[in-house]
Amino acid sequence: MSKIRIYELAKKLGLTSKTILGEISKLGIKGKIHTSSIETEIAKKIEDIFRKKSVKLPQKVVPKRDLAVKKPVKPSVEKLPKEKAGPTKPEIEEEPEILPEIAKHEEQLPPEEEELKIPDRFKKEIETEKMEKFKTKPGMQRAFQTIRKIEPKRWYEQKPFRKSGKVKTFHKEERKPYIQPVLPRKKILKLPEGVTVKEFAEIISVKLSDVIKKFMELGYMPTINQSVDTDAALLVADSFGIKLEPYPVEEDTVVEEAPEDIDKLLPRPPVITIMGHVDHGKTSLLDAIRETKVTETEAGGITQHIGAYKINLKKKDIVFLDTPGHEAFTSMRARGAKVTDIVVLVVAADDGVMPQTIEAINHAKAANVAIVIAINKIDKPEANISKVKNELAEHGIISEEWGGKNIFVEVSAKKRLGIEHLLEMILLQAEVMELKANPDRKARGTIIEAKLDKGRGPVATVLVQSGNLNIGDAFLAGIHAGKVRALIDDTGKRISNAGPSTPVEVIGFQDVPSAGDIFTVVEEEKRARQIALARQQKQKFADVEKTRKLTLDELYAKIKEGMIKELNIIIKGDVQGSVEAIKEALENIIHPQVKVKVIHSSVGGINESDVMLAAASSAIIIGFNVRPDPVVSQTAEKEGVDIRLYNVIYEAIDNVKKALEGLLEPMLKEKAIGRAEVRETFAISRIGTIAGCYVLDGYIVRSSDGIRVIRDSIIVYEGKIASLKRFKEDVKEVQAGYECGIVIENFNDIKVGDILEAYIIEKVAAKL
Ligand code: GDP
Repeated sequence: MSKIRIYELAKKLGLTSKTILGEISKLGIKGKIHTSSIETEIAKKIEDIFRKKSVKLPQKVVPKRDLAVKKPVKPSVEKLPKEKAGPTKPEIEEEPEILPEIAKHEEQLPPEEEELKIPDRFKKEIETEKMEKFKTKPGMQRAFQTIRKIEPKRWYEQKPFRKSGKVKTFHKEERKPYIQPVLPRKKILKLPEGVTVKEFAEIISVKLSDVIKKFMELGYMPTINQSVDTDAALLVADSFGIKLEPYPVEEDTVVEEAPEDIDKLLPRPPVITIMGHVDHGKTSLLDAIRETKVTETEAGGITQHIGAYKINLKKKDIVFLDTPGHEAFTSMRARGAKVTDIVVLVVAADDGVMPQTIEAINHAKAANVAIVIAINKIDKPEANISKVKNELAEHGIISEEWGGKNIFVEVSAKKRLGIEHLLEMILLQAEVMELKANPDRKARGTIIEAKLDKGRGPVATVLVQSGNLNIGDAFLAGIHAGKVRALIDDTGKRISNAGPSTPVEVIGFQDVPSAGDIFTVVEEEKRARQIALARQQKQKFADVEKTRKLTLDELYAKIKEGMIKELNIIIKGDVQGSVEAIKEALENIIHPQVKVKVIHSSVGGINESDVMLAAASSAIIIGFNVRPDPVVSQTAEKEGVDIRLYNVIYEAIDNVKKALEGLLEPMLKEKAIGRAEVRETFAISRIGTIAGCYVLDGYIVRSSDGIRVIRDSIIVYEGKIASLKRFKEDVKEVQAGYECGIVIENFNDIKVGDILEAYIIEKVAAKL
C-alpha cells in the first residue's frame, strides 16, 4: 500500500505538519512525527476533512525570514510525476544570498531516511516528551545523541527550521514566534592577528559568553585572555553573520629600531665572548677575570651567575658573557642576535692551535668581530709562545709586532698572570672600535640566559644594548611579553634601571624566553602582549614552513638581483688533501657577481657547530666522504641548512659552478616509504619466491620506484616489486602492522629475516 509522509501531505495542503499531526491523532493514530509515513487512504481522509472544513487553504506559508533571504531553487525529483522523473538540471540561476545560520542548518538537515535511525521505541517519547525531561530519562541518552547528530542544535531548542521553503517541526510544542536573525553586516571587519578572545568578542560586538560557547562548539577551549586561532575566529564570526578579514599586526612602528640620532650616541662598554679549544683555559680565564675584578670592587658581595658579568678597570667597564665557546656564540648569531663585540681567543701555549681553535677563528671571522688573542698557560714549562704565534699566522691571525692587526696577550689564568694587561688590551681594542649607543631611549637588548626560577617564576638575563631599561617598562622578548617588575645586576643588587652594555636579570616575564631572543621595550603593555600573541601564531606556521637559509632558486635569483655578493661555503672532508683541493678549486671559481668564500674547512664529520655556523652565515655545507649524524641532520633540517654530500671532488666543484650559473638540474632524491620483514618464504615454480612479510613501518606500495633487500645491514639486492598481495588479492598498498606477500622481480633468493625496504624517488629542486 502506498504511503505519503506527513510533511509531504502538509506541503500538498499548504498546512503545517503540526496541524496535520493534530488531525491524525484525532483519528486515533498515535506516535507519528512529521517525517512519519501514513497510508494514502488516511491521507485522503485528512485531505477531505480539511476540504470539508472548507478551510481556506493558505497559498503558502512564507516565513518572515524568507523575505529576507532568497532561496536556491532546489530541483525535487520527488515532486515530479513518475514518468517525468529523471536526471534533472539544477535551476539555480544565481548564487543566492543565504544567511549563514540558515544555510548551516540546511546543510545539517537530515535526509528523510534519517528518521529511521531513531529507534522505534523512542519515537513516541520523542514526540510527546519535552526534551528536558527527555534527557533525564534513563536509557534515552543514545536516542538523544542520534537526534543530536541529525539536528545538533534545533532539536532541543525546539525552534522551527525550514527546508525546501517549508516550516517544519519535530514535535508538538507551539512554534515560538519567529525572531528575525541578525543580518550579515555588509562591512568587513578587520581581525588583527593575536587578539584575545575578549578582544575578539568586542570586535564583533557579540557577548563574550556566546563567543566562547561557539569556540567550544568548534572544539576550542579558549580562555578569555588567550589568543584566538584565526581560522576558528573566522568561523565563529561567520556563524554570527559577520565577515572578518584577518590582517597581520603591524610590528614595524612598535618594534623596529628607530634610526639612531648620532648626536645622542655615547661610548658604551665592549661585550666579550671567550672562545678556544677545549681545556685551553676559557673557564679558568673567565673565573680569573671575575675574581680579580668583581670581588675586588664589590667587596663582600656575592657574585651571581646570571650569564654575564661586568668588570671595571680604570673607570671603564667590560662585559663578559659567561658561556664560553663558539657554539653558544654562533647559535645566538644564528638566531639573529649580535651581542659580542670582541672575541678573546684562548690558545694554550703548551698545546698550540687545535681544531676548535680554527673553528673559533672561523666563527669569529664569519661574525665579523674583532679577535684578541690570549696565549694561556704561560706558567707551564712546556709553553711555546712563538709556536702558537706561527700557527695562528697560518690562519690569518697575525700579531701587531709581526705586522698584523691582532692584539696578543700572554696570560696564566691559573697563576693570575697578565689578566690586568689583557683587560687593558681589550679596552684598547674597544676604543679603536668606537662602540657607541644611545642611553636615552626605550631599551633594546638580547636575552642571554633564561630559566624558570622556583621562587621567582620566569627570569631572564637581558643584555641591554641600547637605551635604558626601567622598572615598569612593558616589553617583548621573542614570542613573549612582560612588564619589568624587578631588575637585579650581576652582583645580586636590585637596581632601578640598566643602561647600554649592562647584563641584568629581569623579573616580570609571563613565560621563559629563549637565549638569543631580541628584547624590546614597547610603549603599551597591551600592544606588547598583542604582538607576542601574533608572533606565537606565526611561529606555529614557521615551524611547519621552515625558512631555508639558501636555496638554489634563491641563490640564482639573488645573484641576478645583485643581492648576493658572497657564497659562503663550509667544507668538511675525510682527509686534509681533499678538503684543501676542494677549497682551492672553489675559491678559484670566477663569477662576475659572486665571490665564493670558504668560511670554514676542516677534516672530520659534519657536526652541530658546522650547522650553526652555516645557519648564522647563510652558508652551504659540502661534505666530502663524510656524513652528518642523524642529530646533526635534524638540526640542519630545523635550521634550513643545506648539506651536500659528495664522493667525487669534481662533482662537488661542478655542482657549485652550475648552481652559480643557475644550471643545476633538479635532484632526484630517494625516500624510503616503508619496511617489511620477511617471516616466511614460499617457492612457487611459476612465480618464483613469494616473501611472506609483515610491514614494520610506513607502507609498501606496489608502484614503489624500488625495493631493496637488506640482510644484516647490507643491501643484497635492489629491484622492483613484481607483485604485492594480501590473502591472494592483488593490492596497491599495505600499511604497517599488516601481513602481505611480496614477489621481487628477477630475485628469488629471499630469506626469512630479510628486511625489504620500499622507496620512491622524488624530484627535488636542486639546492646548493
Ligand atoms: P676550558 O675547557 O677551555 O674552559 O678550560 P678550563 O678552564 O676548564 O681549563 C682546563 C684545564 O687547564 C684545567 O685543569 C685548568 O686548571 C688548567 N688551566 C687553565 N688555565 C691554566 C693556566 O694558565 N696554567 C695552567 N698550568 N693550567 C691552566
